[in-house]
Amino acid sequence: MKSKTIRRLLIGLLFALVIAVCLVWILIQQYGTAKGQYAAVRVSGQTVLTLDLQENTRQWVDGANDIRLCIVCGDGGVYVEQSGCPDKICVHKGRITTVGDMIVCLPAQTVVEVIQP
Ligand SMILES: [Zn+2]
Repeated sequence: MKSKTIRRLLIGLLFALVIAVCLVWILIQQYGTAKGQYAAVRVSGQTVLTLDLQENTRQWVDGANDIRLCIVCGDGGVYVEQSGCPDKICVHKGRITTVGDMIVCLPAQTVVEVIQP
């Protein structure tokens, strides 16, 4: 009778442990994919613009080699709408929302990166 009680207690503890591990894992996952608040626009390594991702804005940025990029941000994301570069890799990259994500335009030496404040 007594050993059965201990067994139930152990199973209960094991369940609690599994749930705790799951909760911690979920928290780590959420922290790891934290939504960014701002986007930094860098041209040749210099930050030329910082955008608030909650504000709907459309800005033209002068990149290197006389290439201009139209950067649109809002609703927690940012993307390059138009660019004068030949490859348009930056335009095709689409919208970025996660901290650490970046849009790189090599011909214009421009980088748009989602950052935390
Ligand atoms: Zn480009």
